[in-house]
Amino acid sequence: MLKAVITGHQRAELREVATPRPIGDWALVKVHAAPMCAEYKSFLAGDPVEFLGHEAAGEVVEVAQPCRVKPGDRVVVMPQYPCGKCALCLSGDYIHCENNYDFAGFTGSPEGSATMAQYLLKPDWLLLPIPDNLSYEKASLACCALGPSFGAFDVMGLNAFDTVLITGAGPVGLGAVVNARFRGARVIVVESVPYRAERALQMGAEAVLSPHDEGILTCILELTDGRGVDCALDCAGAVAAQRLCIEATRRRGRVAFVGECHDELPIRVSPDLIRKGLTVIGSWHYNLSAYPRLMKVIQGSPLIDLLISHVLPMSHIQEAFELSASHKTAKVILKPWE
Ligand SMILES: [Zn+2]
Ligand SMILES: [Zn+2]
Repeated sequence: MLKAVITGHQRAELREVATPRPIGDWALVKVHAAPMCAEYKSFLAGDPVEFLGHEAAGEVVEVAQPCRVKPGDRVVVMPQYPCGKCALCLSGDYIHCENNYDFAGFTGSPEGSATMAQYLLKPDWLLLPIPDNLSYEKASLACCALGPSFGAFDVMGLNAFDTVLITGAGPVGLGAVVNARFRGARVIVVESVPYRAERALQMGAEAVLSPHDEGILTCILELTDGRGVDCALDCAGAVAAQRLCIEATRRRGRVAFVGECHDELPIRVSPDLIRKGLTVIGSWHYNLSAYPRLMKVIQGSPLIDLLISHVLPMSHIQEAFELSASHKTAKVILKPWE
């Protein structure tokens, strides 16, 4: 099979590798849609990567034994290789599993663990059915495009009474706009890239503010009767944006972080948290039980088409990475068989 690899500084190509074989209750999936995520960071940094991607939708083509899926099933591929046995997995919060499989140790080869490839392997219980008449491309949005914000909004209870601040309007942030609008919330976005700011407005964001505007906090307060937003979701993964979320949220409001960041965020416990009564959460993905509701967003939101900006053949992998790294995109989806 063919798979995509990053070979060096701003260089990506396809490579022929052995097709993986199903084993135990892990099925072989033919990948029809492989969304691009933050892999462009390695492309820009020049870090070679052999196994790219963690988002996919495809078709089950082979199983090793009778299991929860069968050849011909159209499925969304959930991320990671969780154990399926621990309390977190059993409760649906598998993304936080403490006993993830050693992929190569279990299957005998590392091939099949990446999604930017023609085939992959996945435990049957992490292959979720795609409703009839829904394309692989749209179904694949149930991974990182819509998943992180859906999970965060579930925990925060975001609804039509709320104004939500979304910092960062990359694919995850734009997915958050889709989810927030679906729930009826009023949306304020912070984004500096004009392409993405424009797309957020097209999706119904009431205002898009620049993070470089020194008066941004004042602007947000003016838009919320001086009180601040009810909820804030950081999708930027930058300290300044995270800090803005805390400062721009009203007393007793809710703040969620989904943008990954390894820098320290300064928080003053008393004024920022105790006296304000903020609820602050980190959120990675969504509980497995939420999948049918997320499918309803994909099937019912009039904004879904705006969330996919480019669908490219995987044979154009160099161009796809250059595009992804340009930030002039919403979600970019690769077609591994084209
Ligand atoms: Zn587990
Ligand atoms: Zn992702």
